Amino acid sequence: MSALEIVHYPHPALRWKSKPIQRIDSELRKTVAAMFELMYEFKGIGLAANQVALPYRLFIVNPTGDPDEKDQEIVFINPEISQRKGSIEGEEGCLSLPDVYGQVRRASDIVVDAFDLSGQGFQCTLDDLPGRVVQHEFDHLEGVMFFDRMQPDGVSEIQAKIDDFEHVFRQSQKAGDTPSDEELKKRLKALEH
Ligand code: ZN
Repeated sequence: MSALEIVHYPHPALRWKSKPIQRIDSELRKTVAAMFELMYEFKGIGLAANQVALPYRLFIVNPTGDPDEKDQEIVFINPEISQRKGSIEGEEGCLSLPDVYGQVRRASDIVVDAFDLSGQGFQCTLDDLPGRVVQHEFDHLEGVMFFDRMQPDGVSEIQAKIDDFEHVFRQSQKAGDTPSDEELKKRLKALEH
């Protein structure tokens, strides 16, 4: 497998609805380790497989963002949010849209069911920052970006920045440095199990 990279909006992987993972093997464990490295390198607190152009239902979280706090790392494989309660607004950003921030309304309390890297099922109840991060990352698996959930006036404040990312991506495709959307979608399809 070639080195993983975080892809930026509007890479088609960010609009891809990921398929459940069928097998947890050493290859997947390597992928997860590489994702944690990337997440820490770019000062993130969560990263979804879609963000490294892999169409897998998987994301990782460390709400501290601190690579030394390994006990705060959680890997969510085939996650389901089984309960959502309350509602709270808070600021979010995304490693696929660096330096763009906006207010997003999320459930204040959630219950998540998922599998860990040993294939063991687990359930966790989350609120505050971990709850927000998990809802943000879960959205990535559905092809949803955080600004899709913002109020229209909030989106218009950051629209110019979003457009800049779109422009850079299309220029890179025109220059031949980035494959076409069609080619990128073909690769995503090929990676599905
Ligand atoms: Zn994100």
